[in-house]
Amino acid sequence: MQVLAVQIELINHYPWLPSTKVIYSDILSEKPREFIKRLFLDYPLDEIYERVIRIFGAAFENKEEILNYKIDELNVYLYLLLKILLSIFNDNAIANRIANLYSKINYNELSIESDFVIYEICRDLELDILYYENPITYRIIIAKNQREEIKTKFTIHFTDYLNLAASMRDDFRKLVNNSLKNGEVFIQKRDLVRLLQEYVRKKVLSRQKLDKNSLEKSRQKLFKIDEFKQLHDRILLDWEKMRDDHEPLEFQWGEDFELTEIAPPCLKHVLHKASESQNLIHNERLFLVFLLHALKIPIEKIVKIFSTLPDFDRDKTLYQVNFALNKKYTPHKCDTLKSLNLCMAEKYKDELCLKGYYSIAKDEERKVNHPLTYMYVKQYRLSKTKIQDEMNKGKNE
Ligand code: SF4
Repeated sequence: MQVLAVQIELINHYPWLPSTKVIYSDILSEKPREFIKRLFLDYPLDEIYERVIRIFGAAFENKEEILNYKIDELNVYLYLLLKILLSIFNDNAIANRIANLYSKINYNELSIESDFVIYEICRDLELDILYYENPITYRIIIAKNQREEIKTKFTIHFTDYLNLAASMRDDFRKLVNNSLKNGEVFIQKRDLVRLLQEYVRKKVLSRQKLDKNSLEKSRQKLFKIDEFKQLHDRILLDWEKMRDDHEPLEFQWGEDFELTEIAPPCLKHVLHKASESQNLIHNERLFLVFLLHALKIPIEKIVKIFSTLPDFDRDKTLYQVNFALNKKYTPHKCDTLKSLNLCMAEKYKDELCLKGYYSIAKDEERKVNHPLTYMYVKQYRLSKTKIQDEMNKGKNE
């Protein structure tokens, strides 16, 4: 018999832990349809609806926590139900919002756990981690004649550290910026919890990829359970309502064009990722901020674009956006974007980026060397089309 690494209360609190498979092996071995039927039989319908709808509602509003978050056995069932719903919705924007919220809730819960519980959780995740009951000193800072010892109770093997931090692009998480000894990274509890948050986010997002037919078949099977169908439809309705209620981002370039009409592929790509609540790497964030400043997009609108990101923090974003504005950073050129792998000309097979344009002023063929150039050319072409359309309309009247 497999020995449990953690107590059942911990599994009810954090159902994404591997030991869930052991303790709840009966429900995890069931087919989704059987599991859902059993759930609706064993627990009050009102409570299931109320708790699930509250999670989706908070996620759709980009909240970072939910009130009265309960930790009980039903929490395990709801986590599994959430995963089934996400695979049925098959919508990246919904999945990212749920993953962001759920991981933030877990971050808040983990932050108040004792050091030893965090250690137990890491052990359950089979991380190569060491726990020191008496904190060990790994760095000494001397500033203005003051000596400060930096201590921790945790070290983690660098391979596990790298795996957990792989999708987090903050510079301070790079291995070179951390204290390392004999392959062990010294890590503070809050940083370890942040890594666990990222683990949870990815866990919520992980789902089996189904082709269109299999997805439709699964939907039809599950929709035979009326309670499930009603819950699904209600969430979808909330999602659509939320989209209607939030006016689309109104980007204006000059007076006549929306940003998305004239944006080059590199910009479209980053905006699309943000709109789907996907994480943006550091360079993508800088590129976006510098370019939007150059386009004189109002600060509030820039912050709004960032508001859907998994690690959004309004005050921090506002500060950074203002900082970039005051520093008057210039937007990246195409060569820089290419070297950063942010050029999307090939991916989007964009003719203007790939073939260039004819410059009337210079009387020669030119290459696009800056996203702003792309936008000038696009704007010029669109305005010509518009004028032509108006002339044609005038002729026909
Ligand atoms: S060629 Fe320039 S404008 Fe076009 S996608 Fe690449 S970086 Fe962007």
